[in-house]
Amino acid sequence: MPEFADVIIDITHEKVDRPFQYRIPGQLKGALRVGSQVEVPFGKGNHIRTGYVVGLSDRAEFDPARIKAISGICEKGVSAEAQLIELAWWMKERYGCTMNQALKTVLPVKEQVRRQESRFIRCLISHKQLEEAIAEAARKKYRARERLLRSFLETDVIPYEMAAGQLNLTRASIKPLEEKGILAVESEAFFRDPVSGIYRDGGKAEPEVCLNEEQQAAAEGIIREYDQGIRKTYLIHGVTGSGKTEVYMELIRHVTSLGKQVILLIPEIALTYQTVLRFTRRFGRRVSFMNSRLSQGEKYDQFERAKSGDVQIMIGPRSALFTPFPNLGLIIIDEEHESAYKSEITPRYHAREAAGQRARLCGASLVLGSATPSLETFTRARHGIYGYFSIRKRAKKNSVLPRVHVVDMRQELKEGNRSIFSRLLYQQMTETLERKEQIMLFLNRRGYSRFLSCRSCGEAMKCPHCDVTLTLHQNGQLVCHYCGYQVPRPSVCPSCGSPYLAPFGTGTQKIEALVKEAFPGAGVLRMDLDTTSKKGGHEAILSAFADRQADILIGTQMIVKGHDFPAVTLVGILAADLSLYAPDYRCGEKTFQLLTQAAGRAGRDARAGQVVIQSYSPEHYCIQTAAAQDYEGFYAREMEYRRLLRYPPVCVMMTLLIGSEREEAAAAAMETAAAQAKAFQEAELIGPVNAPIYKLNDIYRKILYMKSENYDILIKIRNQVETVLERRGLSRGISIQFDFYS
Ligand code: ADP
Ligand code: ZN
Ligand code: ZN
Repeated sequence: MPEFADVIIDITHEKVDRPFQYRIPGQLKGALRVGSQVEVPFGKGNHIRTGYVVGLSDRAEFDPARIKAISGICEKGVSAEAQLIELAWWMKERYGCTMNQALKTVLPVKEQVRRQESRFIRCLISHKQLEEAIAEAARKKYRARERLLRSFLETDVIPYEMAAGQLNLTRASIKPLEEKGILAVESEAFFRDPVSGIYRDGGKAEPEVCLNEEQQAAAEGIIREYDQGIRKTYLIHGVTGSGKTEVYMELIRHVTSLGKQVILLIPEIALTYQTVLRFTRRFGRRVSFMNSRLSQGEKYDQFERAKSGDVQIMIGPRSALFTPFPNLGLIIIDEEHESAYKSEITPRYHAREAAGQRARLCGASLVLGSATPSLETFTRARHGIYGYFSIRKRAKKNSVLPRVHVVDMRQELKEGNRSIFSRLLYQQMTETLERKEQIMLFLNRRGYSRFLSCRSCGEAMKCPHCDVTLTLHQNGQLVCHYCGYQVPRPSVCPSCGSPYLAPFGTGTQKIEALVKEAFPGAGVLRMDLDTTSKKGGHEAILSAFADRQADILIGTQMIVKGHDFPAVTLVGILAADLSLYAPDYRCGEKTFQLLTQAAGRAGRDARAGQVVIQSYSPEHYCIQTAAAQDYEGFYAREMEYRRLLRYPPVCVMMTLLIGSEREEAAAAAMETAAAQAKAFQEAELIGPVNAPIYKLNDIYRKILYMKSENYDILIKIRNQVETVLERRGLSRGISIQFDFYS
């Protein structure tokens, strides 16, 4: 039994990495665990402070006689912090990181220097009501009040200082308006929401829809079990536009009515004004939103609101999972198959897994929703580990799934069509424009864009720091999309000096030019990383398209999610196969998901939708099943392949990526690591090999794949490899990164 406990005193402090060691007194032995809230003597005066246990050990870090003892355990019940600390511990063990890294992930720290808290006044009423209020103030000759109200004719929010200064108002003239619910004085923290002004629009309550049979079956099924005290994980598998969000809202309504709180994770890209509006209209001020652009301090403020009971519903991307709700009852993950739920920084956790753990710790249920569930999730649902509900019909009246055509581009070429548009797509585009409806053109993957190559020696222009070709942009710059390296387009080949350099490939910019050429009268918008890098660029382009400011929207994966565009009746998918041949065992799954989601953008309203998929391998099962919107068919074929090659979810896979500026150092460390891993019979090894992009940012990278049915074996291998590399001094100056796929 552990003799000592590491205790952190102030979890909001930036230095959570400074735990203090305490002795566990006899009467508390066995009663403490990671996350326990304890009282300890602290500092010179030995004042009693409360802290949290973040680690347990048998060894004293210094003279045991000088280690103070824990005074007692707090009996207040398990706090949200305690649960999050326990979650951090689990993350540390499962994903391999330090406790400090895990704590920093789950507990946002206060910024060292807090910004001065500023206040704002927000108008809560509609424009019409505002005009009435102004008229009333004028009638009653409340000059100050009228001045204040007038300032809201142009804006929803004014800084408090402006009211006090420029408008010369006193607290007394603001207070009555606040009491009447016309204005609200709020702290800045409140305004760090992704979309300002939303609560005003949110004032209009959204009419509740009547759930259809399938929606109701899902909502009722989950609620019935919830009320019986059953806590588990559910999959809601609903086709695009099937009304999953309405089911979430029903679940949220029920769980919050029981005095519990809810976290809803959605991919950041889908966190648009439309989504926010929908939820605020239904739940008003009980809901708050987060995005990943918030600073640590801003996150801290958001989390404070959640802790204080100010909000009961938190909506946001991955990191919203750590909202410290005191009585969390439900976690929902929308589009659970999205790759954005996997953290690409240490700890490299998957939000789906971490949510499962958090739900267990808090006694909450977990609901996963998707039109194209990940293979892992669907497998668990099939095995009865997860509850399963499917919604096969679109929710909106008269809205049906679109008709999908697959065009064989090889045949087009054979018959003399060398354009990027097949004859069918061209014809459909023409007709759609004639009907004054909208079109989305989806280019699979941005990375496959124009690169420059030499016609004399065949050399492609590559990034000097990475093993990838440079992308030619319209401004004449060659850009590396991995490290950002840029050079002007050379006039002669750097290898052979030949002047015959020609661009290859097709990017979104090129397609935009071709579309404009082919359809000169049409308004075209383009959305990719270049056009959206400006703040709010993404939202602005989508809004413009939703407002029918253009007829055609061209884009990469980005256009697949987010807004509902009722007038879009044609979706064209160019180069559907590009993602099929990526060096990743999930490329088939990703292609299927992308095509299904992209096709799902068509015909969201009553007007029938058409989808044209252009492909060079139209017979491929991913293309075929996506075209038929046949998830089960896809699942069956894909699982055959996974079983054959023993890839997840059949096995757990762990990758080890070792990188170094010195090629020999990376190779030497990898050799030792592989030898250590080989000693474990229960795991299957592939490699080591050079990573798909061997040189990235001047770092040489080696990769080793390890597969086993047993997660714990892989964790053992990881610990062993880390220990040995450390002991032999091989880990200096190299990066060692483990990653899990299950
Ligand atoms: P999903 O989340 O599955 O993509 P949404 O919840 O966004 O689907 O619903 C798609 C559209 O259908 C939305 O415009 C929504 O308002 C509408 N809708 C959802 N449920 C119903 C219903 N029961 N009756 C009528 N319309 C509905
Ligand atoms: Zn050349
Ligand atoms: Zn580069």
